[in-house]
Amino acid sequence: MRIVRAVGAGIVGLGLLAGCALEHPPIAPGRPSASSTVAAPLPSVPATSASPVAEETTASAPGSTPPVPKEKPRAVNCAKEKCVALTFDDGPGPYTRALLTRLADATAPATFFVVGERVAAYPGVAKAIATAGHEIDVHTWDHRDLTTLTRAQIDHQLRASVRVIRRDAGVDPRYLRPSYGAMNAKVHAAARHAGLALALWSVDTLDWRTHNVRRTVAVAVRQATRGSIILLHDIHATSVRAVRPIIDRLRTKGFTFVTVSTLLGKTKPGTKYFHG
Ligand SMILES: [Zn+2]
Repeated sequence: MRIVRAVGAGIVGLGLLAGCALEHPPIAPGRPSASSTVAAPLPSVPATSASPVAEETTASAPGSTPPVPKEKPRAVNCAKEKCVALTFDDGPGPYTRALLTRLADATAPATFFVVGERVAAYPGVAKAIATAGHEIDVHTWDHRDLTTLTRAQIDHQLRASVRVIRRDAGVDPRYLRPSYGAMNAKVHAAARHAGLALALWSVDTLDWRTHNVRRTVAVAVRQATRGSIILLHDIHATSVRAVRPIIDRLRTKGFTFVTVSTLLGKTKPGTKYFHG
């Protein structure tokens, strides 16, 4: 039987979940910033079986073939299968295309909660995400804490983000994941108005804090249960390196990877979901 809960155990009533920290410099809305395409130096990581991640820049985007899964994704019934959703926040970034290649190699769908201004700064990447069969949803325009904004400002954040996703990826987002998991009544009302349900997470790998492949993999594998939504960030090379080991190890434990919309099924705009 499918169990869809609108609130997560242990985190009910918290306005702020953290678990998500954007570490790139802010990008001014409007014209893409050239500096935004420059990757931070790769953090050093302990020896791991995961292969290095090539830095990708917008220079490689035009004309490059988006990676597509080797097999057509099959329909998954999460009422019968042990489903889990990999989610990536804060991109697109310099490692997003490398991540798409890894997901295609593994034939695993994922969900990307993108920052609107970064969609504009990395032309072609949102389209590549959608073409590869992944889901794209809203993570605000510029990673602002929405609870600090007026209702009109929140509406603008959501409207601008939906618009750029539609324009660049050609898809309609269904979910909002507010930056830092920060929510209040205004955010709920604005999400409802925009037709977006609130999709949070139930497993925080803390990849943004540890920058450590082994620890990121260990948290995801240890904490994942049926219906988990796993939080990762595609702006960190270490997180992208952790993806294949996470997929391989969770598959050996019987998990099937799906998008958030497959995991959650029917959802209501303005309502929050932490897991399937
Ligand atoms: Zn974030």
